[in-house]
Amino acid sequence: MGEFELIRNFFAAAPCAQAGEGVALGIGDDCALLSVPAGEQLAISTDTLVAGVHFADPCDPFLLGQRALAVAASDLAAMGATPLAFTLALTLPHNDASWLQAFAHGLNLMAQHCALRLVGGDTTRGPLCLTLTVFGRVPTGQALTRGGAQVGDLLCVGGELGNAAGALPLVLGQRTAEPAIAEPLLEHYWSPKPQLALGQFLRNKATSALDISDGLLADCGHIAAASAVRLQVAHDALPLSSALRAFLGQDGAHQAALSGGDDYVLAFTLPADEWPGLLAAHPSVRMIGQVLAGQGVLLVDAAGRDITPARRGYQHFPETP
Ligand code: ADP
Ligand code: MG
Repeated sequence: MGEFELIRNFFAAAPCAQAGEGVALGIGDDCALLSVPAGEQLAISTDTLVAGVHFADPCDPFLLGQRALAVAASDLAAMGATPLAFTLALTLPHNDASWLQAFAHGLNLMAQHCALRLVGGDTTRGPLCLTLTVFGRVPTGQALTRGGAQVGDLLCVGGELGNAAGALPLVLGQRTAEPAIAEPLLEHYWSPKPQLALGQFLRNKATSALDISDGLLADCGHIAAASAVRLQVAHDALPLSSALRAFLGQDGAHQAALSGGDDYVLAFTLPADEWPGLLAAHPSVRMIGQVLAGQGVLLVDAAGRDITPARRGYQHFPETP
C-alpha cells in the first residue's frame, strides 16, 4: 500500500472527510479551503502527541484516534468556538492496514461526535507521532480568552476532575481495579468529551476560560497571570468521582484533581449573577473558588488556611530554579 492509497483508503474515504458546512474544498488539493461567515473569526489550535511521551507505545489504535482528536477539539471548547474542520499530520513506523483501520475508525467517531471535518494532512514515515490542527469559528470579539477574569467573579469547572490522571496507573499496567472502578476512569482517559456546548454557552458570560490539560492548579495559574488576578481554589469544593476516591483514597483523589492533568474539562471565571442560568443549562458545572485581587493561585482548606502544594502540574521542560 503506497502513500496515496493509504491516504485515500483510510482518510479521504472516511465519513468525516466528506463535504460539509464551511468546507469549500477538502482533501486532495494543495490546500483545503474553509469558508468563514462575515462577522466571525477563525479559532486555530495545534496539538502533537508523541508515542511514549503522550501515550503508551504500543497502545490501542482505535482509542488513540479517539483521544487525539478529543484533546485537540478541547481547545476549541475552551475558546467558545464552534467546530469546523481539522487536519492530521501522521508519522507512522509502518503502513499496517489493520492499525490504520482501527485508528481511522476511532478518529472518525470522535470527528462525528464533535462535528469536525477532516480537510487535509500529511503522511510520513518515522517514529509514531500525530499532529492535529483544529479550526473553529466564533463571532468576532466573543472568543473566551485567559485574560479577563474580574475580582469578585466565581471560579468554576465543567465537571469532575482527576479521573484521567487516576486512570494512568491502569493505562500503564502498574495497577488493576475492578470494572466498576476501572471503567469510568479509563473512559475519561481514552475518550475525553470536549465540552464544546458548554464553551459556546459561555460566550458573553464567562470572563475567562481554558481547558484543563496540565492540572487544575497549573492551568488556573495561566488565567491568574493573563488576567492579573489571584485565583483562590477551595480544596473541599473539588468535584471528585466516587470511582476516583475508591481507587486513590481521599488524599490521592484530591492530588489527581489538583495536579494530575489530562482532564480536558473547562475551567472558567464567571460573574456571580450568571451562575443560576449556567447551572440550569449545564448541571455538571461546579463552583470551586473565587477571583481575588493579587496574583497566583491559592488552595485553601475549609478554615481558609493556605494549603497550596509545591508541585502543580506537568511540564515537558520544567523551569530551572
Ligand atoms: P502535498 O505534497 O501537496 O503536500 P500530499 O501528497 O502530502 O500533498 O497530500 C495529498 C493530499 O492528501 C492533500 O490534500 C493532503 O492534505 C491530504 N493528506 C495527506 N495526508 C493526510 C492524512 N493523514 N489525513 C488527511 N489528509 C491527508
Ligand atoms: Mg504534503
